[in-house]
Amino acid sequence: MKPFPSVAISTVLLSWGAHHLRPLPWRANRSVYGTIVSEFMLQQTQVQTVIPYFLRWIRRFPTAEHVAHAREDEILKYWEGLGYYTRARNLHRLCQILCQMAIPPQTPHEWRTMPGVGPYSAVSICAIGQNFDAIALDGNVIRVLARLIGCRETFRSKTAAAAHLKNYADTLAVPSQCAFLNEALMDFGATICTPRGGSCENCPLKNLCQAHLRELPPDAIPTFTPPVRKSEVVHRLLAVCGGKILLQISRRRRLHAIFEFPQLRQDGISHPLPSFTGRRNIGNHCCEERFILSGGLFCESIDLSRGPVGWIPITDLEDVVLSGPHRRWLPRLLDLADAAESTIGKSLPPERVENFYGRLPNNGLTYLLPRAPCLPSGVRRGALRALVAQLAERILGKDEVGGSNPLGGSRQK
Ligand code: SF4
Repeated sequence: MKPFPSVAISTVLLSWGAHHLRPLPWRANRSVYGTIVSEFMLQQTQVQTVIPYFLRWIRRFPTAEHVAHAREDEILKYWEGLGYYTRARNLHRLCQILCQMAIPPQTPHEWRTMPGVGPYSAVSICAIGQNFDAIALDGNVIRVLARLIGCRETFRSKTAAAAHLKNYADTLAVPSQCAFLNEALMDFGATICTPRGGSCENCPLKNLCQAHLRELPPDAIPTFTPPVRKSEVVHRLLAVCGGKILLQISRRRRLHAIFEFPQLRQDGISHPLPSFTGRRNIGNHCCEERFILSGGLFCESIDLSRGPVGWIPITDLEDVVLSGPHRRWLPRLLDLADAAESTIGKSLPPERVENFYGRLPNNGLTYLLPRAPCLPSGVRRGALRALVAQLAERILGKDEVGGSNPLGGSRQK
C-alpha cells in the first residue's frame, strides 16, 4: 500500500480553504456555543435548510444561558420544521449543564458525556469550536478520504466507514489549525469532491488522489451496502368544525409534545378514500399519510394510544408546535376542510364545538363524535343533536357520554 501523503494533503486543503471556504453564519464569529448549535442543527439536515433556522435561533438565544433559561415549548417552537426534535431537547439540556460548569468540556472524550453528543459531534465541536487537534469524519470527509486512498471496501454504514478511515484522518490534523482544516475538508467535499463524482480535472488534490491516479470511478467510492427501505401507510383524521381543528399530541418518544393530525386505528378498519395524501421520509423509512376528511356528523376511530386529542382554534395554530410535514400541508388541508364545511352547512361559533369520546368495552376502539356538528342544510339542529346523543349513548354507554376535551378546552386569543 502506498504511504498516505497526509502533510501534502493538509497543506493543499489549508491553502484551498483560504480562498474557498463558504461564508456560513456560524463561521462569522466562531464560538463553542455557535458550533454546538450549528452541529446539532446540521445532524440529518442540509446546510441551506439550517441557515435561516440558525440565524433566527441566535437572534432569540444569543448565548447558552438564554437557551438554558427558556421553556421547552419555546425551544421546540424555534426548532419547528427541522424535525428530529430530540436534538432540540438535548440542546436545551446541554446548555443547562454547560451553564452549571466552570469550564466546558475540553476533549472529544469529555464532550461525549454530554446529552445528544455522539462520536462525530464530540470531535467536530471540540475541533471547530475549540481548535482541538482532531478531524471530524462527517459524510463529506468520509467521501474525500475514501477517494484519496482509493478505497474499494463496501461499508455497512457511515459509522463503519468512519472507523475504517479514522487512522488516515488522524494523520491529517495540523496542530492549532484544525478548526480551519475541518471546515476546509467539509467544504471541499461539499463543493469539489461531491457525491456525484467530483471535479477531478480541476481538483487541487488530483496528483495525491489514488482514485484519480488509478482511474477508479470516483462516484463509486465509497461503496455502501444498499439500505433496507421500509414503507408504511398511516390514516389521519382531518376534522374542522366551528373554527377549530382536531389535533393529537404525539406520545411517540421522538415527537413528544408535538401536535399532529389524529392518527386512526389501522387494525381491521376499512377507511374511506382519502381527501389528501402526503409523503414523508425519515431516513430509509417512507410514510404515506392519508387524510380522511370528516365533515359535519362523524364517528371515527382514533388511535388514542398515540396521545390525547382536542380541538384547537385555527387562529392558535401558529402558536403550537406542529410536526414539520403537517405544517407544510396545513394550508392545503385547511382549504379542503373549508370547502367541505361550506358545502354541508355553516360553521358553528367556536364555543359551540366540543367533543366527547370513549372506549367501546368489547373492542377498545375509541369513537369521537362532535356534540355540535356542522349541519347539512335543511336539517333541524335540535333533531340532529338528538340523533348524535342517541348514537353516542348506544356506542359509549350512558356513563361515558359527555367526556371533555382532554387538552383542557380552548385558549381564547
Ligand atoms: S481528484 Fe477527484 S476524486 Fe480525487 S479528491 Fe479530487 S475531486 Fe475527489
